[in-house]
Amino acid sequence: MAQHPANDRSFGTGTTVVVAGRGREQPGDPMNVPITLASTLLGGHPAEPGGEPLYSRNDGLDSWVAFEEVVGGLESGEAVAFSSGMAAASAVFDQLPAGATIAAPADVYGGVATFLADGAARLGWEVRRVGNTDTAGWFAAVEGAALVWLESPSNPLLEVTELEPVIAAAKRAGALAAVDNTFASPLVQRPLELGADVVVHSATKLIGGHSDLLAGIAVAADEALVAGLQRQRALHGATPGALEMFLALRGVRTLAVRFERAQHNARHLAAVLDAHPNVTTVRYAGRRPGGDAGYGTIISFDVEGTAADADEMIGRLELVRHATSLGGVESTIERRSRLAGQEHLPPSLLRMSVGIEDVGDLVADLTAALDSRAAPAR
Ligand SMILES: *Cc1c(COP(=O)(O)O)cnc(C)c1O
Repeated sequence: MAQHPANDRSFGTGTTVVVAGRGREQPGDPMNVPITLASTLLGGHPAEPGGEPLYSRNDGLDSWVAFEEVVGGLESGEAVAFSSGMAAASAVFDQLPAGATIAAPADVYGGVATFLADGAARLGWEVRRVGNTDTAGWFAAVEGAALVWLESPSNPLLEVTELEPVIAAAKRAGALAAVDNTFASPLVQRPLELGADVVVHSATKLIGGHSDLLAGIAVAADEALVAGLQRQRALHGATPGALEMFLALRGVRTLAVRFERAQHNARHLAAVLDAHPNVTTVRYAGRRPGGDAGYGTIISFDVEGTAADADEMIGRLELVRHATSLGGVESTIERRSRLAGQEHLPPSLLRMSVGIEDVGDLVADLTAALDSRAAPAR
């Protein structure tokens, strides 16, 4: 298939998101890849099998391929789109045999933590959980591992792992190195360029960007690994829907401008929260070692007082919406430790996904909700 020159990385990322995946147009064609709602595709003459695409669970449709070209172009590899971020992540884990050893971060997306615990129980995986910033700990944990799974910045503590040396150590130890790049986005961090074998995104989040779809994507450079991921997608039926792929493609076209604006807002809000007397800890990836390539759009902060104080603060917000998930154009906030499996987190920790609203309105909403905190009980 003819590839648009965007995939040769000769353009910047802000151009790639706009132009990649558009390589097949002829005069008179629509500007955008149409939504193709078809499970099955017409075959050629039965006497002349041509290896043509047959069935969309296995072979994909034009809008997946366009979306894959965009994210593959951003991450410098070949992308495989999935029905969700967890489908993409589990396709990577499913490359492993029973009894495999996996090194994974202590602070990691909750769904991945549960998936690993299930794999330990069902398949005898040995899962070594390593402090995200404990580089020496990673160097020890990669020995004998089949897979080193990294997530940086992490969800929800925004820990930054020193990816380059840890990936290098994983490779030296003969392990597959995978990075969940959902929080950083390919605009600030491209793990394949740092030596990783595979990078995974929940495209539900920043890449889709509008809280209106579930999708995931895995990107690798090695052909056998790409084929393994495609095979897993087909056999597990983790195929993305045609409408979701249309929306994801439309969403990723504005990733660069959305990210720039949300990151600008987040940076400003982190400083406001730092200075607020009713906030005890502000976690923001841009301040951690290794986090200076970009700051990101997610902030976690602890409200002074109890979980109930934090819940009341959320209840006073008028602009920032109380909702889980992240990476949409709208600002959202939630108290993570209320969720099953997240009880280990500080009880009053709020994770805020900063959107693209006017930053003055966000500051006013947050400070009003924090200022009017009820007087501490006597
Ligand atoms: C949300 C998320 C996932 C899972 O993605 P889904 O699209 O919800 O399946 C994986 N990793 C991280 C860091 C996430 O935030």
